[in-house]
Amino acid sequence: MQAVGAIPKKKEVGIIDHPMPTLESDDHLIIKSLDVGICGTDREICTFVYGDPPKESDYLVLGHESMGEVQEVGSAVQHLKPGDLVVPSVRRPCVFDYCAPCQAGRQDFCSTGHFVERGIKMSHGFMTEYYSEQEQFLNFVPTSLRDVAVLVEPLTIVEKAMSQVWPTQSRLPWVKHKNANGGPSGKGLNAVVLGAGPVGILGAMKLKAEGFNTFVYSRSKAPNPKSELVESFGVPYISALDTPIEGLLDQVGNIDLVYEAVGVSTIAYQVLSILGLNGIYVFTGIPAPKAPIEVNADTIMRNVVLKNQVVIGTVNADQSSFISAIKDLDVFMQRWPESLKALITKRFSIEDSQSLLLDKASGIKNVISFDA
Ligand SMILES: [Zn+2]
Ligand SMILES: [Zn+2]
Repeated sequence: MQAVGAIPKKKEVGIIDHPMPTLESDDHLIIKSLDVGICGTDREICTFVYGDPPKESDYLVLGHESMGEVQEVGSAVQHLKPGDLVVPSVRRPCVFDYCAPCQAGRQDFCSTGHFVERGIKMSHGFMTEYYSEQEQFLNFVPTSLRDVAVLVEPLTIVEKAMSQVWPTQSRLPWVKHKNANGGPSGKGLNAVVLGAGPVGILGAMKLKAEGFNTFVYSRSKAPNPKSELVESFGVPYISALDTPIEGLLDQVGNIDLVYEAVGVSTIAYQVLSILGLNGIYVFTGIPAPKAPIEVNADTIMRNVVLKNQVVIGTVNADQSSFISAIKDLDVFMQRWPESLKALITKRFSIEDSQSLLLDKASGIKNVISFDA
C-alpha cells in the first residue's frame, strides 16, 4: 500500500511502501483515506527539525488533517458503520496513570510530555491509503460536509481557543451576550485575527459567526487571493504593509480579542502592545527559534496590568473541539459555501506529495485526494 513518509536518518521524503493495516483490537476500525490536508507542520517535519517515527520504524507516515470513510469495523465498535465519513483527532494520551489531563481525556493538556501525535510524534499519520484507529478518536461527519471536512482539524484550533476564551472572559460578568443557541456571543466586541493562512481564515469565519466585529490583519499587500477570500465572507482584510499598528487601532477601536495565527513574533508582539481594555490575546503560532527581537516590554507590561488583560496559549484540541468544529463547518457551509470551498486551493494525487511538501508553499490549503 502507498503512503507518504519522511525518513529522518536519510533525510528523505516521498512515497513509501507501507503495510496494509489490520484491526488491532475489537474497538478499532479500518479507514479508507479520502482527503488529507497539507500544512506548515508537515512541511516543517520534512525539514527534519522535528517529527519522530514510531519506535520500531525508520520512517514516519505524514498527515494529521484527514477525512476518510469507514471500511471495516471491529466487533466492539458501537456507533460507526462502514460507509460513514469520519475525521480523526491527532493527539493520543500518554501511558502514565498519574497524568491527570490524559486520564481525563484531555491529552491536549498532557502534563508529562509523553503524548504521541499521529503523523507528527511517534505514531504514523493518515497520508496513506488506509489506516486503523480506535472508535473513541474518530468523529462522525455528515455527507453534506464531504467536500470540506478535511478542514475540520485546522478549524479545531480556534474551537479550542474559544473554549478557553469564554470561561476566562466570564470574569467580566456584565458581558452577557448570547447567540441563537444560548451560547456566548461576540456581539458588540471587536476581534483581530493575525494571519491569513487556513488557521487564520477559519478563525475569522468562527469569530464572525460568533458575532464579533472581526478584522484580519496580515502582511501581504491587498488585493491578493487570501484577502479576496477573507472579504468574500464580510471580514475586512487589513495589510500590515499599508496600515501600521497605530492605524489598525484607529480602524478597529478597542481590541477585545486577538487570535494570533501567524507564528511570527515581531508582528504578534506589536499587536499585543495595542490589545484593548479587558482584552484577551490568544497565541496559537509556533515560531522557529531565531535571534532575540526587541519588544516594547514596558508598554506591554503596563497595559497587561492597567487594562486587566489576559494572554493565553493553546495547542492541540480535545474531542469537544472536533465536535464543535464539525457543527461550525455546517454553519459556514450554509452562510458562506463559496468562501469555504475556496479555502481548498486544489486536490492533488499522491504522486504530487513530494513537491507539495518540499517546494515553496503556494495556495491556501492543498489537499491530497486518495479518492481517484
Ligand atoms: Zn496541520
Ligand atoms: Zn499525559
